[in-house]
Amino acid sequence: MKLILQIALVCAACAALSASGKAIHTGADAPVREVPFTQVHFTDKFWAPRIETNRTVSIPSAFKECEKNGRFDNFAIAGKLMQGEHKGDFSFDDTDPYKIIEGASYSLAVKYDAKLDAYLDSVISLIAAAQEPDGYLTTCVTNNCTRLSGWWGTKRWQKINSHELYNCGHLYEAAVAHYRATGKRSLLDVAVKNADLVCETFGLGDNQIHYPSGHPIIEMALAKLYKVTNNPKYLDTAKYFVEEAGRLTNGRHPSQYSQDHMPILAQEEIVGHAVRAGYLYSGVADVAALTADTAHFNALRRVWHNMASRKLYITGGIGSRAQGEGFGPDYELHNHTAYSETCASIANVYWNHRMFLATGQARYADVLERALYNAVLSGVSLSGYKFFYDNPLESMGQHERQQWFGCACCPGNVTRFMASIPHYMYATRGRDIFVNLYAESSARIAADNNDVTITQTTAYPWDGDIALTVDPARRSEWALRLRIPGWATDHPVPTDLYTYAHSGGKPVTVTVNGRNVAFETVDGYAVISRKWKRGDVVRLSLPMDVHRVIAHDDVTDDRGKTALQRGPIVYCIEAVDQPDGTVFDKYIPDDSQFTPAFEPSLLGGVMTLSTSAMKVLPDGSTTAVPLKAIPYSTWNNRGPRHMAVWIPRQATLARPEPLPTIASRAQPFSEPTNIDPDTPAATSNLQSAYGYNDLWEPTSSADTSKPYHYWWLRRGTTENICYSLAEPTTVSSVDVYWLDFDHYDGNYRTPQSWCLYYMTPDHRWQPVEATSPYGTRKDCYNRLTFTPVTTTALKLQAKLQDGQSGGVIEWKVN
Ligand SMILES: [Zn+2]
Repeated sequence: MKLILQIALVCAACAALSASGKAIHTGADAPVREVPFTQVHFTDKFWAPRIETNRTVSIPSAFKECEKNGRFDNFAIAGKLMQGEHKGDFSFDDTDPYKIIEGASYSLAVKYDAKLDAYLDSVISLIAAAQEPDGYLTTCVTNNCTRLSGWWGTKRWQKINSHELYNCGHLYEAAVAHYRATGKRSLLDVAVKNADLVCETFGLGDNQIHYPSGHPIIEMALAKLYKVTNNPKYLDTAKYFVEEAGRLTNGRHPSQYSQDHMPILAQEEIVGHAVRAGYLYSGVADVAALTADTAHFNALRRVWHNMASRKLYITGGIGSRAQGEGFGPDYELHNHTAYSETCASIANVYWNHRMFLATGQARYADVLERALYNAVLSGVSLSGYKFFYDNPLESMGQHERQQWFGCACCPGNVTRFMASIPHYMYATRGRDIFVNLYAESSARIAADNNDVTITQTTAYPWDGDIALTVDPARRSEWALRLRIPGWATDHPVPTDLYTYAHSGGKPVTVTVNGRNVAFETVDGYAVISRKWKRGDVVRLSLPMDVHRVIAHDDVTDDRGKTALQRGPIVYCIEAVDQPDGTVFDKYIPDDSQFTPAFEPSLLGGVMTLSTSAMKVLPDGSTTAVPLKAIPYSTWNNRGPRHMAVWIPRQATLARPEPLPTIASRAQPFSEPTNIDPDTPAATSNLQSAYGYNDLWEPTSSADTSKPYHYWWLRRGTTENICYSLAEPTTVSSVDVYWLDFDHYDGNYRTPQSWCLYYMTPDHRWQPVEATSPYGTRKDCYNRLTFTPVTTTALKLQAKLQDGQSGGVIEWKVN
């Protein structure tokens, strides 16, 4: 279909701040126009309660965490309102309050709350006080926090990865939201002053810094600021940051990690840190739309196609690796070790929404919906105060949502995102109205020459029947464009990454005022063109068959497995729902039938899927057992359990419950080692050790599909992992399977050498008396035999190869 990217800068209602500072509608926009979320009111049983929980629980509890963790104190110290030490571990801690202010502002706009309004005023006064006279604002720099100088250096704007511009971007996002919600300029003035400094500091001029943003968001934030103020310099600087990515003319080293490896115009593959990628490409889409730049938009389409065809989880999450929080190679979509950061799923929604706005194509809204109902929603507990950072598609119970994180990007992002979900429902182009999401709701939509109220009556996503009552202010002819989700027409994704095992379910039907209508499908939308009058009722019926999804054969971790989907909802099986309490020992034969049932008292009311599965017993025999699946987004609301999204189709891929071993009963840990001051991110969790006693057998040293231990950002150092044994145990050999694979974040290699220690009764580490060589071969176990010792703990100490990192996939003790 034709790429619609016209100059959209000229509009009847031009956007600017009037002299009085009151908002006037923006004129600068993409060809498809957004419908503000304040015009859309959900009254459904799926989203409305979650959005209300966000308002009443998530936002206040996240603000409380900011208070507890010194986030506001940092602003107060910078503003000389209090004395004390700068707090927190990251140079981007300022963004936590910004994100929550943004979410709180959205929330205020929908439901006014005088107390919250006043709270925001007080927080904003701290932020304003922290701003330096020339507009600069990053508290750890102003507070001269040398403890964090690994991030920011010794002066402002010194390090590309300092996150100063990331702080600025989140400030603008919050400021625009607060201004739009309240009409108050307090935070907007801070943002504008800061943006003026950024525009002066960064650019192609001789006296300007030539750096891209490091961690994007300022691109889309400046575009937003431009839309509110109509000041073209913000758009110019956004464009500068987009074009600076990969322009390595100043001796800068290419960085895949922050998509600064080649110009966006040359990019084909999505690589690097997933949140950075999603935010950068969202910003590129904004700038491309606002400047009618088809070249950049075409580059985006290529990168998007790579993402959607090779690097997209069935849940809509992106970014498979914990290392660098980023993408692996094509088709690397491991489930157990999936990173799929909550922020990355949110970024994926932002990006796809902008791709839709630029093109009017449903394929982007399809990916948006998939991420929204699955990967994003999994990021927050039903209670509203616990969050996932990574969202694995398989677990042995080691994952659990947390109230807060040292690096707290995700909770704040969830609060701002959940409040804005109604924003993604509708859009307009000329007189036409797009319907992208379905939920019981009412909306007032301003299309050209008409105001239209649309009321949706439906039990979506549990039921596919949707009645839309259309009430135009005046009778006129235009087209209602109803998205026909790809999942309803045998295309779960708009690429060949996922397909249905069985195609050809029930058809999609549309009636208007009770009569079947033949409709044309354009760009994935059923186009209903007619002269609309008040009370017209459109009924859309989407088939809610249970589908078995099959992944592209190159996704090795999904080979021979199936995922279950009904409507937009991806399912998982969690141990607590299975009568025998196990997950990985089951498979679902291809001919099994599923029974959907709505269970109002389960997990806030969900549709479950039940079937008869087969269980593989330790002796290799099989037996039929009942199996129940729940929506993936609702797992881990009843404690940490075994869980899987991709379920084997044959007995060979099911794993009978393994018998416990010395290693599996041991408690893994690691001893602190010296810290490299240049790698600030490695300073946390020094004692945590994990993944080498899970009893999953590796297939190679590059098999990162199941838990493994790695020494992230450590290179050439001496590292260790340990076992604390439950009781004094006599041991005489160990088997070690080393990690060995390439990554832009640092290659993982077998070690140069290693040594095994045991704990003596007087609590000293003593090397074992080895009776075989210390092996460092890859792709196999390395057995070390030694004179038997009776001990309560073992330590494996590895000297990494020069310049290389390393890790252990599995460590057995015999
Ligand atoms: Zn995050």
